[in-house]
Amino acid sequence: MSKIAIIGSGMSGLLAGLGLLKQGHEVTIYSALSADDWLTKVPPTGTACRFATSLDLERELGVNHWEDSTPIEGIHLTFCPKPGRQLIDLMGRFDRMALAIDVRLQSHRWTHDFQERGGKVVVANVDIPKLEEIAADADLTLVAAGKAEIGQLFEVDNSRTVYEEPQRNLTMFVIKNVSLDRSSDGIAQKYGIKFNFFGTEGEQFSIPYWHKDGYQCWNALFEARPGRAFDKFDDCNSGEAVVERVKELFKQYIPWDYDWIKDAELADPKGWLKGKFRPCFKKPVGTLPSGATVMALGDTANSLDPIGGQGANNCYRQIRVLLRGMEANKKGDYSPEWMNATFDKYFDEIGKVTNEFNNLLLEEITPAAQRLLIAQYGSDARPGNSSIQQQLANAFCNNFDNPNLLTRQLLDAGESKAFVNKLSGGKAGSIDIRNKLRIAGGQLRQVLGIPRSDHPLARMSA
Ligand SMILES: Cc1cc2nc3c(=O)[nH]c(=O)nc-3n(C[C@H](O)[C@H](O)[C@H](O)COP(=O)(O)OP(=O)(O)OC[C@H]3O[C@@H](n4cnc5c(N)ncnc54)[C@H](O)[C@@H]3O)c2cc1C
Repeated sequence: MSKIAIIGSGMSGLLAGLGLLKQGHEVTIYSALSADDWLTKVPPTGTACRFATSLDLERELGVNHWEDSTPIEGIHLTFCPKPGRQLIDLMGRFDRMALAIDVRLQSHRWTHDFQERGGKVVVANVDIPKLEEIAADADLTLVAAGKAEIGQLFEVDNSRTVYEEPQRNLTMFVIKNVSLDRSSDGIAQKYGIKFNFFGTEGEQFSIPYWHKDGYQCWNALFEARPGRAFDKFDDCNSGEAVVERVKELFKQYIPWDYDWIKDAELADPKGWLKGKFRPCFKKPVGTLPSGATVMALGDTANSLDPIGGQGANNCYRQIRVLLRGMEANKKGDYSPEWMNATFDKYFDEIGKVTNEFNNLLLEEITPAAQRLLIAQYGSDARPGNSSIQQQLANAFCNNFDNPNLLTRQLLDAGESKAFVNKLSGGKAGSIDIRNKLRIAGGQLRQVLGIPRSDHPLARMSA
């Protein structure tokens, strides 16, 4: 068995550490934060909604402590080509529930789990000389430091990276005093993700959340296109100021959800975050001044814009591939070739497609996605609804868990049509025409101020 060092006690460092302990390795985690620091000193790294297959990894490792807290059933997406105009709603259900647990609580608890199972934790801010010492003493050193400075050790892989710049200015806020059960708003999901998607301005999404202090609330986000209507948080220097600006933006641009959010309060003093970063792939091997090599893991290796909720899920996907690679690596060969081959497996199996799925949400909607969105029109997420519309909406939701399911169909117009044809027995063309007419009718009703009776759950924008 090998001696493994890990930098970072976020989900990547801890889950990899727990998995490697289970395989019988000797594991030490070096972290800038102690278990208690996670609860008191930092905001959550991100919303980090995790889908079913990721949660399976927690179950396999026996660290799924929050299963019943806030099981998320699906997604309600409202697509608005322009502010103020709700064009299409999608209401889909996941086959299996998702969860968004405060990462501060998780890292606190998992640090204790890790230590109780024989892992060693050293609280230290690791710089390059310290990393040299650590790497010299370990068979394999994994750098799971998120987007922190030490990650600059790893070069951006320009052959795999699409963007030169950050794509959105991000503002995250954790709020309480906002109803979790939206069934009174006509939404057939007790706990559902709300996704308001604006073609020109950016996106706003809200996720049912289990707070570190042990209660249900919401973790929500504005994804502002730079310089556009939602890019209004520069002068907000406190969580309270962020929440006040959030309410103003809802009132002006998302009036259909204003009543729901108008009494929101910041959940805790550190429950907010502002920033931006470049979505990218790194080369997984970092070489230290001495020539020793270390391997990137989690966000350090691949960071994604939060728009598609894939970043944390990709951390879990990397860890699965890493653990499989370790299991097969009986000789303990941790050469740069092995590190590259391990990361390539992640890229080929799931990393490439998840980045493609995530990035397509950042861009103007593709004709292929447009067809699927139109074809699902009328989905209502009610349990037992097995209509074609509902199957399509559900397929869209399940693609967040496994982007191999529908990403091709969202990118390629031929694939998209074939998929609708397959579900409908060859009726893609007529569904497209019929639903376009219904959507146009709904738009006319909005302009005239008449309720949109054509869509069972859509409400009027003010
Ligand atoms: C606003 C927002 C919303 C998001 N929403 C989602 C979502 O809904 N779904 C999803 O899948 N993903 C989401 N993500 C992404 C997700 O939060 C991250 O992918 C995930 O948390 C990364 O975990 P990590 O363990 O790799 O890194 P981190 O959580 O950043 O942990 C890194 C650790 O390394 C430590 N560290 C850093 N430098 C050093 C050093 N020099 N020495 C010692 N320790 C060090 C840090 O203290 C920390 O403990 C979101 C991200 C953002 C920003």
